[in-house]
Amino acid sequence: MKRTRLSICRKKKRYNTHEDALIVAGRAEYPLRPYRCDRCFQFHLTSRTKGKRTPQFVLERLRSGKGGQTPS
Ligand SMILES: [Zn+2]
Repeated sequence: MKRTRLSICRKKKRYNTHEDALIVAGRAEYPLRPYRCDRCFQFHLTSRTKGKRTPQFVLERLRSGKGGQTPS
């Protein structure tokens, strides 16, 4: 697994639990995926869902035609 850069960790929002991150991801305009950060050991969200395991709600959203393109 790729390590998270400290600069990225610092500017990202942190969530205490995977659930918290998922709730926020579920409200976002575009597909987000929570991941565990190996710097702060909390959770961040990433918009890079390509080639990764995608949560079910994201797949459903994609199927319903919302949020096809992920901003980089
Ligand atoms: Zn972090």
